[in-house]
Amino acid sequence: MVEHRRISVPTPFQVGDVNCYVLEGDSVALVDPGPDTEDAYATLENELSDMDIEVEDVDHVVVTHPHLDHFGVAELIRERSGCTVHADEAAVSILEDYDAYYHREKRYFKILLEEMGMPSQKVNVVVELPGAYTMLGPPIPSRALEPHEDGDTIDVGVELTCIETPGHAPGSTSYRRKDALYTGDHLLEEITPNPTMQLPEDGERPRTLALYLESMKELRDLDVELCHPGHGPVVDDPEERIQYTLDHHESRKQKLHQMVEEQPKTAYELMQEMWPEIPATEYFFGMSEVIGHMDILEADGDVELRGDEVKTYHSS
Ligand SMILES: [Zn+2]
Repeated sequence: MVEHRRISVPTPFQVGDVNCYVLEGDSVALVDPGPDTEDAYATLENELSDMDIEVEDVDHVVVTHPHLDHFGVAELIRERSGCTVHADEAAVSILEDYDAYYHREKRYFKILLEEMGMPSQKVNVVVELPGAYTMLGPPIPSRALEPHEDGDTIDVGVELTCIETPGHAPGSTSYRRKDALYTGDHLLEEITPNPTMQLPEDGERPRTLALYLESMKELRDLDVELCHPGHGPVVDDPEERIQYTLDHHESRKQKLHQMVEEQPKTAYELMQEMWPEIPATEYFFGMSEVIGHMDILEADGDVELRGDEVKTYHSS
């Protein structure tokens, strides 16, 4: 039995194509249709037509997480088809107005990145960068959005169980279908996903890497046979890939700990030392990774963050 068909949808981002999964049951559902570009839409239209599906036939779009490469074209598909767009409750408010979300992030991270030692000129470049792309994810009207939460089962022609897998993005969700899981960017075969920093909830910045690693361990206990990721090939040995991802982060954490033991450093200095060649376009991801590991070391009592205007990590 064909479980789904996969369309490689082009994106203008460095990550390359995004995987859109076409689920055909009592209706037609697309998991992660891609960004709102002409290229992406033309690819979807052509590939669906080869399956005897018109865009107008789409009943459901499922969004694993609110990143432009995954959801942007959902609104165009909805305009043509009247489909329902399903996403986690934490993702829905972002999908309603991605641009507003970006502007909230911009204000928050401008302050945070400066506190973490990044020179303000560079901070300005970093926080402006995503602004050029927000039009790739036009607002989706609230009435078309169907929020779900952890443990819900949604019927999109086939039944999917929603498993919140936090860390990579707000509301990041994996969807279980029998022995397989659609993982979005939570688990990938060829890349170790980056749990990027996110806006505070109830005044506290979420410790995204810690949350990510925790949910990665929970994923292991689900005992699924296959994972269908948002980018790249199928993960045919999820247990091995999960272990690899956990080990990778453990060794990064240890290396960062050693770097702070040598002498106190800011997150920006740690990033520069870890990846001397890192381009400004990757700064946000680099800072997210460093701060994510430092969050864990801080919680374990291994390091302390000190200072007012500019903060420095000290070994404790
Ligand atoms: Zn992605």
